[in-house]
Amino acid sequence: MTVRVRIAPSPTGSLHIGTARTAVFNWLFARHHGGTFVLRIEDTDLERSKPEFTENIMAGLQWLGLNWDEGPFFQSQRLELYGQKIQELLDKGLAYRAYDTPEELDAMREAQKANSEAPRYDNRHRDLTAEQQADYEAEGRTAVIRFKIEGDREITWNDLVRDTITWKGQDLGGDMVIARAASATSIGQPLYNFVVVVDDIDMAISHVIRGEDHIGNTPKQILLYEALGATVPEFGHTPLILNEQGAKLSKRDGVTSISDFQKMGYVAPGLVNYMTLLGWSPPDSTQEIFTLEEAAKNFSFDRVNKAGAKFDWDKLNWL
Ligand code: GLU
Repeated sequence: MTVRVRIAPSPTGSLHIGTARTAVFNWLFARHHGGTFVLRIEDTDLERSKPEFTENIMAGLQWLGLNWDEGPFFQSQRLELYGQKIQELLDKGLAYRAYDTPEELDAMREAQKANSEAPRYDNRHRDLTAEQQADYEAEGRTAVIRFKIEGDREITWNDLVRDTITWKGQDLGGDMVIARAASATSIGQPLYNFVVVVDDIDMAISHVIRGEDHIGNTPKQILLYEALGATVPEFGHTPLILNEQGAKLSKRDGVTSISDFQKMGYVAPGLVNYMTLLGWSPPDSTQEIFTLEEAAKNFSFDRVNKAGAKFDWDKLNWL
C-alpha cells in the first residue's frame, strides 16, 4: 500500500494541540507504512492568515519531531490550479453562478424555518438563462459558484476510525458554494471544501486523516472527487481532545498551543507521548512511555478510540 498523508493547518492561530495530535497520527501512520507525510499550509483566508502563525506551526511541528517529507505547500500560491478546476466543473455543467443577495437568502431561510424545514439552499439559480445572469450583473450583484448536490444521492465511506458512515445528499444543505466574490468573467475566491479536494488529488493523498469535526465535510468532498474524475481516498476521523466539561478543547480553556506548553517548560518527547496516548492505545497497554518511532512500529487505526479524549494535566505531568 502506498501511503501519502498530509497535515493541512490554517495559519489563523498558533499550532493548536488538536492539530498537533492530528499531525502525530498522520506521522505515525506514514512512518508505519514507509509512506510520505506532506505539510500544506491552508492560507486561502487572506484576512485571517498570518505569516507568524505559519512560522509558529512549522516550528512547533519540528520541535515535536514531526518532520515532513514534502512541502510546505501554500494554497495562496496555487490559485491558478483552483481556477482551472472550477472552470472544469462549470464547463461540465456540474457547477453554476448564483446571484442571490444576502437578503434573499435570509428570506429563504426564514420561510424554511416557518415551515419547520431544515435550512438549505433551494437551488433556485441552477438554471438561470443568459439574460437573467446579465440582468443580475447589470444590477451590480456579485456571484458565488455553486456545486450541484443531488438530494437523492447517498454517500457512504468506510471510515478508518468510525467504520461505515452514510449521508444523504438532501442533508448537505443544497448546492454548495465553492467560490465567492465571483462574476460572469471571474471565478472569485475558492473555498475550503473545494481547494482541499483539488490539493489532495494533486498531491496524490491516499488517506485523509483529520479531526472528527470535519465529518460533515467529507460527503461533500467525496462528491467533488467524483465530479473531478478522481479516485476517492480513504478517510479517518480522529476523536477530538475535550475539556473537563466534555466540549472541544478551545482557546478559552487556557493553554492549548504547542508554543505555550513549550514556554511552560514541557519537553517535546513527553508532550508527544501524551498526545499519542490521547486517543490511541498501544497493543501492550502496560507500556505508557514510548518514543514516536516505537509508537510508529505498532500504530494502527484499530486502536484509535472512537470517543473523544479528555485532556488530563495530571497525566501529562506524570509523563
Ligand atoms: N485547514 C483545515 C483545518 O485546519 C484542514 C482540514 C483537513 O485536514 O481537511 O481544519
